[in-house]
Amino acid sequence: MGLDMNDIKLDTSAQQASGEPIVQMRSLNKHFGSLHVLQNIDLEVAQGEVVVVIGASGSGKSTMIRCINGLEEFQSGELRVDGHDLAPHGKASRALQTIRTEVGMVFQQFNLFPHLSVRDNVTLAPMKVRGLARTDAVTIAERLLDRVGIRDQADKYPSQLSGGQQQRVALARALAMEPRLMLFDEPTSALDPEMIGEVLDAMRELAKDGMTMIIVTHEMGFAREVADRVIYIHQGEIVEQGVPEDVFDNPRNERTQNFLARVL
Ligand code: ADP
Ligand code: MG
Repeated sequence: MGLDMNDIKLDTSAQQASGEPIVQMRSLNKHFGSLHVLQNIDLEVAQGEVVVVIGASGSGKSTMIRCINGLEEFQSGELRVDGHDLAPHGKASRALQTIRTEVGMVFQQFNLFPHLSVRDNVTLAPMKVRGLARTDAVTIAERLLDRVGIRDQADKYPSQLSGGQQQRVALARALAMEPRLMLFDEPTSALDPEMIGEVLDAMRELAKDGMTMIIVTHEMGFAREVADRVIYIHQGEIVEQGVPEDVFDNPRNERTQNFLARVL
């Protein structure tokens, strides 16, 4: 596909220079009513690290990563993202607005704007949120669409594209904000099998280019290949984590063993 993510800028802010982890989550607790969805989660993610989160449906994977860009509130604990503190119950904070511009997210459902062309999907946030001039936003959009292999689709509307193409537009759209961190929530789960590879390829290139990524996925082969670290969540708790070889080939926790026996 000729993907080349080389000149996606990874900016060198003070946090990066200091080597401070981009995500610092300490004893984070999250409840939905009486359901204790996240239980004392401790998670640090370093600059440039690729972390893959695995676990059964309903274990809290989405909720955990949605806390990181403030799509979910949490009730207690500490959360610092790229040097900005997110407070418990902190929906409207200034830090949250900043974080949302620095953290990109790709969802299972592509969530493209159906009434906008592919190009306009990608230019919208850079123009509205970052104040880029249209010509500059278009230049960036076309470069990114080229990188994910769909520049020739720029004038089409989302409904005219395959699922794999739509998800690559979603990726280009997130990258157009030059995020410091990318979150992926089962980005290939809604795709027909033959389209999974093209999306994973684009993500693989991004990882190679040094992007910090947290990826929830059931694609275990991909996880093994790209992850610096794999985290296994069970009923709202991180019960095991480590390099892919350790977690996949030598899981120590019985719950991890049972989960992997079902999915591998
Ligand atoms: P996963 O992504 O691992 O499948 P989720 O984070 O989506 O798990 O969900 C964890 C638990 O929280 C599940 O029991 C789910 O039903 C519940 N849950 C998720 N979102 C909500 C919500 N908005 N309101 C109430 N319960 C929720
Ligand atoms: Mg989920």
